[in-house]
Amino acid sequence: MRTAICPGSYDPITLGHLNVIRRAARLFDKVVVCVGVNAGKHALFTLEERMDHIRRVTARLGNVEVASWDGLQVDFAKNYENPVLVRGLRTITDFEYEFQMEMFNKRLNKDVETIFLAAAEKYTYLSSSAVRELALYGADLSSYVPYEILEEVAERGRAK
Ligand code: ADP
Repeated sequence: MRTAICPGSYDPITLGHLNVIRRAARLFDKVVVCVGVNAGKHALFTLEERMDHIRRVTARLGNVEVASWDGLQVDFAKNYENPVLVRGLRTITDFEYEFQMEMFNKRLNKDVETIFLAAAEKYTYLSSSAVRELALYGADLSSYVPYEILEEVAERGRAK
């Protein structure tokens, strides 16, 4: 059994994240979406809210589960059978950061591989931070976040 670990902040989960999770679910026996405990001081949603969003939008994918972790990704990965870290790559900016992370992770645990899935073309420039910004100004988010959480994200933006 091979397990894909998809780590991230997911504040909030976007259609770009969901695209990567769906593709990982086809490639691996099991996918664990691992939500980082600390999303920083600009977080729009609490850890529990972010996990609940992911559970709802992945409910129809039978081999996806959601977890949280406060620590190194490789230490989280060790809890699973044949773990592989799966990260989405959008632009050259992601590339530099992701390669740095991959190097440290490999030094921390040489048995945990990282693989990268190229972002779907239409989501190349989509990020949670852009969604948070758009939500603050009441923009239409329907092309960017899953419909199950659309109203919640819009409402939280209005409340800020
Ligand atoms: P982090 O804080 O670790 O960057 P994010 O929640 O922003 O967490 O992203 C988690 C993962 O999802 C990362 O691998 C990131 O590159 C990937 N990702 C984010 N947005 C997209 C997108 N639009 N398309 C594909 N992958 C994405």
